[in-house]
Amino acid sequence: MLSKLNAPQREAAKYLDGPCLVLAGAGSGKTRVITHKIAHLVITCGMEPRNIAAITFTNKAAKEMQERVAQLMQGHSIKALTVCTFHALGVRIVRQEAKLVGLKPQFSILDSSDIMQIIAEISGGADKATLKGIQWAISGWKNALIPPQEAEKLASDEITAAAAKLYPAYEKTLRAYQAVDFDDLIRLPVEIFENHPEALERWQNKLRYLLVDEYQDTNRAQYKLLRLLAGVRGAFTAVGDDDQAIYAWRGADVENLNLLQSDYPKLKVIKLEQNYRSTNRILTAANTLIANNTKLFEKTLWSEHGMGDPIRVVMQRSPEAEADWVAARISAHRFEFKTHYRDYAILYRGNHQARLIEQALRNHKISYVISGGQSFFDRPEIKDITCYLRLLLNSDDDLAFIRAITTPKRGIGAATLEALGNYAGARHISLFAAAHEEGVAQHMSSRHLESVREFCAFINRIEYRANREPAGQVIHDMIRAIGYETWLFENCDTREAETKWSNVTDFSGWISRKGEEDGKTLIETAQTIALISMLDKEDDDFDGVQLATLHASKGLEWPHVFLIGVEEGLLPHQSSIDNDQIEEERRLMYVGVTRAQRSLTITACEKRKAAGEVRTVEASRFIDELGEGSLHRPDRNAPASREDAQARLAALREMLGRS
Ligand code: ATP
Ligand code: MG
Repeated sequence: MLSKLNAPQREAAKYLDGPCLVLAGAGSGKTRVITHKIAHLVITCGMEPRNIAAITFTNKAAKEMQERVAQLMQGHSIKALTVCTFHALGVRIVRQEAKLVGLKPQFSILDSSDIMQIIAEISGGADKATLKGIQWAISGWKNALIPPQEAEKLASDEITAAAAKLYPAYEKTLRAYQAVDFDDLIRLPVEIFENHPEALERWQNKLRYLLVDEYQDTNRAQYKLLRLLAGVRGAFTAVGDDDQAIYAWRGADVENLNLLQSDYPKLKVIKLEQNYRSTNRILTAANTLIANNTKLFEKTLWSEHGMGDPIRVVMQRSPEAEADWVAARISAHRFEFKTHYRDYAILYRGNHQARLIEQALRNHKISYVISGGQSFFDRPEIKDITCYLRLLLNSDDDLAFIRAITTPKRGIGAATLEALGNYAGARHISLFAAAHEEGVAQHMSSRHLESVREFCAFINRIEYRANREPAGQVIHDMIRAIGYETWLFENCDTREAETKWSNVTDFSGWISRKGEEDGKTLIETAQTIALISMLDKEDDDFDGVQLATLHASKGLEWPHVFLIGVEEGLLPHQSSIDNDQIEEERRLMYVGVTRAQRSLTITACEKRKAAGEVRTVEASRFIDELGEGSLHRPDRNAPASREDAQARLAALREMLGRS
């Protein structure tokens, strides 16, 4: 079982006498230690899979881990094994223990746009930047486990003062809707466990061994949750790399690495030094780069892979030219080396950089997948449908009620909804409940009331079926019954309507498959959607070039990586330059560089449009920090054929070197 690990990896996988921390650089097999340790626990130690939980940072990482573990299990079923994100684990805990925090088990999970709407309402309206600032501040407090009554003392400027004032009303509104935000998914379990020892004991008995990947990016609340679950026994293994901490802006705290050592004096710390991912050239460049940061922990990394090709640094005139060059290069490279599209990744600092790349890839007929961009689930047409699902689960979800009842239009206007809202507000009940009361009849015409009640009756009918029948049939019938397709084609131009409709059918097809796979009803399937919507709907074995933000690329690897827009102002980002946060940006660059297995190409532009005007920009300081010895800077003006000839030569050299 553990023969495919090196000595320190094996030591980490076998160690069960107490808490264990694997602290090591990129590509050294930290995630591999976790997957093998799970298999070891089950196969060798006879532990039940249902007593083991592995926590990853993204849903994508969770899925990959599940697959890797399944391959190692020699026939043991992993169905009962928990492999998920902190948030997904949180949902499970809160659903099961909902009563303890005054929620019903089928509470709604609100996304960022729902939250903005609530804050706009309770603040009586403000500009978007202020609303965002308020949302950000409240989220920050929740991640630091700071309750409303303490937030006021921490307010440091106008926006945080406004946020502190709204925080209690915000919490009240969420509870009135029987809803939670993403931050609650960590905060509430902590609250439950701190106040209800019997609940904590239940979960400690259930999850007897915990494994945490990407530990350096946990925030205060997540750490607290881990500590509570792991209990005094400290039955956990955490793996991480302080050089890859890139979520400080979201409340993550590398200090948690130190905290672990002081909270668990018996903590076993294991270091890994061999990198199995990249060529030495890439590794040397990464090490040289990160040496510019102040060190928390000393680390060395070496690799048995050969030297490999130098890192190419290519300057382009403009982002358009850059996108086109990258697409052309991938096309030629794939043809020449008979690779797959999925062997390539294009990574960038900000989502806005994806648009030009997408266009260029389409022009070159290159298929691609994109993650970390606008989520499939954030599209308006998908939200329209998921609001119906939310309402099926939780009729107190007023936001979902309003969106569903007005989409498609049913002749129910703003005045009717306002009257209903006033009535519901005065009685502290939901809109859905208000519609069923006698008294509401005095506040609107009988014709309007009839339309509202008809809608509620429709939801009740669907809900009845959604609890009993296979998911696919019910969602299909529901979408047909509301006339969504007709409504789309009446309200959008044809092309737009076609795209949207195809997304909707995609979505219902996906629900249908999910329902079948797990043998679940629509109600059961719908409960998991909110979580998936936090990230991306993943397409399985699709052969496409991966597009991702640097943040979303964490933990992953590809044979050939392109880092684009490596310019001052973008990477490092201007706001980080202004706020003296270069080290976090350097770690981000380090994450990008260390995703590459065999080749790394870095591009930067001479001119870029920012705030409406085209400006001259400089290549990033991080390029120089990779060390000139690792770089190759081809002449942009060299004819393409010479570039190709160089590429062929390099390929030949490589082939000879390998044989
Ligand atoms: P990151 O810091 O980027 O998350 P990591 O430390 O988690 O990296 P892994 O993703 O676990 O590293 O491993 C990197 C690559 O090296 C993977 O392809 C993995 O299969 C391979 N690898 C790790 N350890 C070994 C080993 N002992 N033998 C062979 N291959 C290994
Ligand atoms: Mg990893």
